[in-house]
Amino acid sequence: MSDIADRADWRIEKDLQNARAHIGKQAMLDSDGRCHFCDELVAHGRLFCDVDCRDDYDKEQAALRRVGAR
Ligand SMILES: [Zn+2]
Repeated sequence: MSDIADRADWRIEKDLQNARAHIGKQAMLDSDGRCHFCDELVAHGRLFCDVDCRDDYDKEQAALRRVGAR
């Protein structure tokens, strides 16, 4: 009996994790006038100075997620 409840809890927890991960990612990428990767000043509304920084940032975030740092 508790088996079914445990599985339901697991499912809910998974959904919450996914939702939080999604929200966290969006919130982190507020444009603040600086490149999110190298901290260079960028034009207003831009998140990165170029595609290399964006790619490196994505890789860094993926690596952090893999080790569970975020
Ligand atoms: Zn940059």
